[in-house]
Formats: sequence, C-alpha cells, structure tokens
Amino acid sequence: MKFVVKSKKVLTGGALKNASVLIDNGKIADVFEYEKKTDWITEDFGELILMPGLTDTHVHINEPGRTDWEGFETATKAAVAGGITMLVDMPLNSSPVTTTSDSFDQKIQSAENKLYADSGFYGGLIPGNAEKLEPLIKRGVLGLKAFMIDSGIDEFPFVNENDLRRALSSSALRNAPELPLLVHAETDCGFIRPDKYSPNSFRSFLDTRPAEWEHEAVKFLIKLCREFRHHIHIVHLSSAGSLEMIREAKKEGLPLTVETCPHYLYFSSEDIPDNDTRFKCTPPIRDSINREKLWEAVIDGTIDFIVSDHSPCDPGLKYMTEGNFEKAWGGIAGLQFSLPVFLTAAKERRISVEKVSELMSRRTAEFLGLGNKKGKIEKGFDADIVVFDPDKKFTVEDKNIFHRHKTTPYSGRDLFGVTETVYLRGKKVFDKGKIVSAAVGEIVLKNKFY
Ligand SMILES: [Zn+2]
Repeated sequence: MKFVVKSKKVLTGGALKNASVLIDNGKIADVFEYEKKTDWITEDFGELILMPGLTDTHVHINEPGRTDWEGFETATKAAVAGGITMLVDMPLNSSPVTTTSDSFDQKIQSAENKLYADSGFYGGLIPGNAEKLEPLIKRGVLGLKAFMIDSGIDEFPFVNENDLRRALSSSALRNAPELPLLVHAETDCGFIRPDKYSPNSFRSFLDTRPAEWEHEAVKFLIKLCREFRHHIHIVHLSSAGSLEMIREAKKEGLPLTVETCPHYLYFSSEDIPDNDTRFKCTPPIRDSINREKLWEAVIDGTIDFIVSDHSPCDPGLKYMTEGNFEKAWGGIAGLQFSLPVFLTAAKERRISVEKVSELMSRRTAEFLGLGNKKGKIEKGFDADIVVFDPDKKFTVEDKNIFHRHKTTPYSGRDLFGVTETVYLRGKKVFDKGKIVSAAVGEIVLKNKFY
C-alpha cells in the first residue's frame, strides 16, 4: 500500500526541507515537493520534524537467560518509543552468552515474534573461541565483541593480547575485514586505594577505574589495528585522554572507529551524589573538563557516533538502599532516552538536529554496513521514519518508561525532544506515547547483505 507522509521539516539530503515522502511496501519510493498534490493517502505533520529512525549499535537485552533484567519485548518497545528503529544486541549478558553458533541459534529463537524494532546481534570473542568464530560469523552476526577487562559476567571472560591476535589472524576474520571487532577498552593496571576510600563514594569508585586503564587499552588497540588492518571499534569511550592517540590513528588512515554514550556527555562526576548507584557504569562518568573534551571530539568527528550502551539489571543488583558502588551492577539503563538526553545536551552547545541525526542514525547504520538501507530519508531506503518535536520538553517519569525496570539516572530529568510517531519499514509502530502495532521488527543478519 502506498501512502505519503509530509512536513515542513523533512530531514533529507543532510538538511531540513519542505518535503513529501512516498512510502511503498516498507520502502521510501520517492521524496518530492511538499506542495505537490497526489491521490495517495497523505498525513501532514506540519512543523514537526520527519527524520530517519535511529540505529543504536550497543544494547544489552539480556534475553535469553536474564529476562528478569530486560528482554526483547520491553527493550524494543522502549527503543521505538525513543525513535530507535534498529538496534544491535550485545553477546552478553544473556545466558547463554552468544559465543557459539548454538547460542546464536538460541538467541534467534528467543527473539522471534518479540521485536518491535529491527534487531541484529553481535557474537562474542572470549579466550579459546578464536578458532571457532567462522560458524558464528556465517550465522550473520553484525560484529564481534570482546572485553579487555572483567565483564561482570563469569561466562564472558576477558581476552588477553594473544587471544586478540589469534582472532585477528584467523581465517574467519581475515575473510571478513569489514566485520567490526568491538572492544571494551580498559586494561587493569592496578590503582592506589585512597586513604578515604568508601564504597558509597562516587569519588572513590572513580579512583578504582583510572583513566590510564583506558589509555593503555586504546594504545594497544591502535597498535593491533595498524598490525592487522582490521576494523577495530572502541566502545563507550569515556576518557578524553585517549583522544589525541585516536586522532593520530585516524590521520594515519587506520580502520578505527569510536563511540561514546549520552551519559558521558550529559552528566559529570561533580554532579553525581554519593550512594546513587544508578550512575555506576564502566568506564565511569568522569569530570566536566573531560566531558567538554569529549564534546569537541564529537563535533570534530574523532568520535564517530553516539549509542546508548543500555545495560539494565534487576534493580536489587544496583544495591540502591546500601548505596554500594562496589557491589552494584555496572550499567546504565537509558535506551529510550538516548535521543532526548543527547539532544538536550547538544542544544546547550548549539549543535543542530541534523548533526544529532547524523551521529545517531546515518553513521551507526553505516558502521553496520547498512548505509544504503537505513539512516537516511532517501529513495530506496527503509521507511524508518521518526516524527519528532525537538523543542518540546518532557519529564522522565516511571509511567512513560518502557524498559522492564524503571531504575535510571534520568528519572525526574526534564529533557527536550519528544518522539510523536514512529514508522518501521512503513508500519506505524508508535504513536502519541503508545505502541500501536504487533511485533513487526525483523531480525537483521549480515549475510543477507553480502
Ligand atoms: Zn555495553
């Protein structure tokens, strides 16, 4: 069925324009003048922005096995409520972790008929599976993920230099140079416990995850990238101290990409109260001087894109009543609010909606190799369209949270940017605060595109 959506502000060709978008069978069939009269059913959104659906390449859904933490249904509903039409699920913290082809098959089975956003999956690289990656890659994972430090999940141990080298020199990866290897870049180099250490103090928690741990890991990953010329991706960069190295590596032309997350750009350590473990994530949220340097890197392109790293858990595991940062699960729940949080902070720095969209839609889709399918409102692309009001404010309240659990450091915050309506491949899935379709999200596998 063909129909038209139009507005005075359609984000197409990198700018906001008066335009009409013809949707046919889930695809964008044409983009033409706003005024042009047609016989197709037309919905006019007036002054609201029509922008491409977001692709969030870093989400922990935790199903199967830890659905008491999140789950496909709740996570993908939260995603579309936040303008995200495509996401990629991390190979942990589900049980089993996605490190074998069998566990990948279980993952697919458990996701079927529960998806409200299109979803892809990463495979996990752990010690001992470097030679067994081929079947996992053939299943269609969109990348591989590894940790250089304790992941918090026993079944997902971290890799050492040899494990990474073994994986990068394996025929499976050499035959797939475009498949990104995503790495949690922190190396445990030890730290000096301060005299006034307290498990309830955010300051003390920061001291246990020094920025140098990130710098060491990033330095090593750049070296690997130079040696193997394989696409290496640094997830959730938190320390601005690594930026110079990354700038140099990019100038050198190494296939290196970097992401950061809204929480590192919105919060700063000075503002985080002691005992409030909702703010615990690793690497940690650092000070405001660091944050402003991250913003410079977002603007100059050193940081390639912005993703949520949504990593919720059972609220009990946050040890909120004890306020214990040592025991609390390290992960921030923020999938649904990724866009408004980033937009709110971007507005303060006079960054345009066009740039926000580029960082959360186009570049993330390109990262996955989906750059000619998702991330733009252009002829031939999937009709993933978000009707968005960037100037409307809302308050984060439990009643508007779609995540399984309402625990999030964004509670009570006033944010700019309301997602009014979302089309996923031409189907209206979200409208005026409600999910309005069945679970029509599709599983996106790499091999379908190669
Ligand atoms: Zn993560």
